[in-house]
Amino acid sequence: MPDTASRPGTIDRLYALDAGLAVAPDRSVYSPGEWQGEPITLSCNAYLLRRKAAWILWDTGIDDAIAAESGGRVIAHDIRGIVARTIHSQLADVGIAPADIGTVILSHAHFDHVGNARLFRHATWYIQRREHEAMFGPDYENYGYAPALYADLEGAKAVLMDGDLDVFGDGSVRVVATPGHTPGHCSLLVRLPKAGTILLSADVAHYRSNLEQRRVPAMNSDAEATRRSMDRVDAIVREEGAQLWLNHDIVQTATIPHAPSYFD
Ligand SMILES: [Zn+2]
Repeated sequence: MPDTASRPGTIDRLYALDAGLAVAPDRSVYSPGEWQGEPITLSCNAYLLRRKAAWILWDTGIDDAIAAESGGRVIAHDIRGIVARTIHSQLADVGIAPADIGTVILSHAHFDHVGNARLFRHATWYIQRREHEAMFGPDYENYGYAPALYADLEGAKAVLMDGDLDVFGDGSVRVVATPGHTPGHCSLLVRLPKAGTILLSADVAHYRSNLEQRRVPAMNSDAEATRRSMDRVDAIVREEGAQLWLNHDIVQTATIPHAPSYFD
């Protein structure tokens, strides 16, 4: 049998979207024991995928409405969200509108990932079942969620996932369960014809040194699970020869061209 039969599929394009900045007053929240009292600015990203004629979004960024507020707004966990380029305008730069996106896959429900949920209430949402339960359960405050941001999802079409999922059955887009930051946190592995395999690890680690040192932010729901998820991310990067894109690492984010540029 020719080996093409077992070769995984690919998506056509990957766009990084600027999903705003998150400014926190005390970096030691992310890196306990380090940088006490020093502020930190985190990049935020969302990612747009094109596969055949379909558009898929991985996370939705900080609420576009915050772009109208100079200096941004403190939203949750004492963290200030700032939006310079709205998600809506970046989709327009690509030549599409929110209505063109049929599928949204969610890493987890913090404000910098679910902030524009209302733009995509028509879409089919892929959410880990444990995350969905935490979002809509009585303990949402323990996880730092702001339910007003995702109230529209209660009636949206949702596929509730229990762990890993090969979304299209061809290996082109794979959800990888990486819990710990939140109960149902997950990452996304995408394959491209030229750029190869890229692991979008969301908030498994907020920046490179936290991954290398296995530092777990104070806000995480499960420290042990977080460290296992870091191990898993490292293993996948090794086994797949994948690039690792750390969503909130502002140094790495500055090296990645954003929409309307794309990877193929
Ligand atoms: Zn985040």
